[in-house]
Amino acid sequence: MPVDSNADHVLTVAERLAEVRRRLLDACAEAGRASAPAIIAVSKKQPREKVIEALDAGQRVFGENRVQEAQGKWPELRKIYDGVELHLIGPLQSNKASEAVALFDVIETVDREKIARALATEIARQKKRPRLLVQVNTGDEPQKAGIAPELADGFISDCRTKHGLMIDGVMCIPPAEEPPAPHFALLSAIAVRNGLEVVSMGMSGDYQIAGQLGATHVRVGSAIFGDRP
Ligand SMILES: *Cc1c(COP(=O)(O)O)cnc(C)c1O
Repeated sequence: MPVDSNADHVLTVAERLAEVRRRLLDACAEAGRASAPAIIAVSKKQPREKVIEALDAGQRVFGENRVQEAQGKWPELRKIYDGVELHLIGPLQSNKASEAVALFDVIETVDREKIARALATEIARQKKRPRLLVQVNTGDEPQKAGIAPELADGFISDCRTKHGLMIDGVMCIPPAEEPPAPHFALLSAIAVRNGLEVVSMGMSGDYQIAGQLGATHVRVGSAIFGDRP
């Protein structure tokens, strides 16, 4: 974990956030991108004090990977802080679709027919439409969520025509043991050919590369908050 030159000073959340922002801007400038992606601060499993530090530093976009954990944390914080934008970045079960639509501004993990159908039902019922991203399993890993890359175009089209869902973008989590760049390039290409605006990719270890390869959003947890307890 980064510490500054003043030996004993462990960086605060605000300092880490500023550092991530700076590195992201530098990486994007190097690649000739005029603007940097939005930073989604991944607050899953982090203590409330650290989340509050980020909020006090002006951060407003957050990611959670479990509906239930987010429900226990965010309704209360939203009463104190205006303008919070909450992203669901973990797998969604269809029996949680109702809670997810009610709580999240963006659901990044639409990856199968059953979820698409459940979300369409809830969006109509609640008259609230979160932005939706399709999760693509770019590494075709059997244990990982996400639609296979070769099925992505067909699934995006089914979401639109069969379920009447507006799809805003795509997201991926590349295999941990592979260089991420080919996966980021693949996801960007899927976004472009399907006319999708939002590309969510890159985590603490590789957000700069993701920024250079067309991410509009990077999801950064431990580089901002420190290791998860
Ligand atoms: C936990 C998580 C992240 C953040 O991971 P870090 O390595 O801590 O930055 C990003 N995306 C998803 C989907 C996650 O579950």
